[in-house]
Amino acid sequence: MVKVMVNGACGRMGQAVVKAVLEDAELSLTAASDMKGGMDAGTLVGMPPCGVLVSVGLDAAIDAGKPDVMVDFTRPDVVFENACKALRRGVSPVIGTTGLSEDEKASLARLAEETHTPVFIAPNFAIGAVLMMLMARQAAKYMPNVEIIELHHDQKLDAPSGTALQTAAMIREVRQSMKQGHPEEKEKIPGARGAEVDGMHIHSVRLPGYVAHQEVIFGGLGQTLTIRHDSINRESFMPGVVLACKKVRSFQGLVVGLDQLL
Ligand code: NAD
Repeated sequence: MVKVMVNGACGRMGQAVVKAVLEDAELSLTAASDMKGGMDAGTLVGMPPCGVLVSVGLDAAIDAGKPDVMVDFTRPDVVFENACKALRRGVSPVIGTTGLSEDEKASLARLAEETHTPVFIAPNFAIGAVLMMLMARQAAKYMPNVEIIELHHDQKLDAPSGTALQTAAMIREVRQSMKQGHPEEKEKIPGARGAEVDGMHIHSVRLPGYVAHQEVIFGGLGQTLTIRHDSINRESFMPGVVLACKKVRSFQGLVVGLDQLL
């Protein structure tokens, strides 16, 4: 049995993770925390009471539940601090919260080595999204003109999404840096062409109704190729989160990306 704590338990993703952990035979929910706490974690997600109180504060939750793993779905501005605290207490973070900088990831990798406590980060826990990224990297070898459009609900705090950044990073592994579009292109309104990574453009759409979606569009002579993934609901992420909880303790240091687990 892997003892799991959910940080951000009251959030959209946190609640889905609490439910997935309670329903899995090899995982045991021993702790939960959130800024808003005080209720039973089972009751919170519409299941029978499970005896785990959602604590306000990560240390209190670790003290109460002595978890092996902490799943974090909180906010971009607190996730780094949460992960450091967990690592210093010997608890392995499984991080779904997006927005960690490259410097912060490097610091977590160092802390993981120092504390002999593995840490796992996935910008996207949905298998379909991982396949989209792998296929995009393959396609970019042959069609280097590419733009990314990511579409999310309007409560998302970071833009572009972690998935879009990871997709661009994977495409960069095979694509020579090059400016796309007309060399004399001018934006009439700043931002019209979106964000730019190595000459690739990334566009972020934020609207109520969306969950998490992305299109990677490749253009060539007389043709386009579109690879699209849609997370229709948050259950799409749960098999990946559950798998990461089961595997993270067998890793060494920092591991990034669900593809590393498959
Ligand atoms: P949300 O706003 O619904 O939930 C966040 C929760 O965290 C809230 O309940 C809030 O009270 C709590 N919180 C905030 N600060 C906290 C702190 N310091 N300690 C403990 N709890 C705290 O957000 P969400 O839609 O559940 O998304 C959470 C994160 O997960 C976002 O960064 C989002 O981009 C990311 N996300 C990742 C994936 C993936 O597959 N990796 C999928 C979906 C969302």
